Amino acid sequence: MELTLAEFVRLVLVGSFALVLAAAMLSRYLHHRSERQALARRGICRLCLHAFEDSSQETIVECPACGAMTDKGRSRSLG
Ligand SMILES: [Zn+2]
Repeated sequence: MELTLAEFVRLVLVGSFALVLAAAMLSRYLHHRSERQALARRGICRLCLHAFEDSSQETIVECPACGAMTDKGRSRSLG
């Protein structure tokens, strides 16, 4: 099988396009994942609205500003 120049160029174009698309999807996925992880660490005190990050596994943490117990990493759309 012998490639003509036009076929070769088309192959390179399609190949690089697929590569760029795959890289974009991968970086998007990684960004989304790290954002989710950051969100899971984030807590907002319901008493003083102080936003903080906590790397512990606890879901209920003490607010560093006022000391109130507050839920961490819970989505606002679901109760
Ligand atoms: Zn607080």
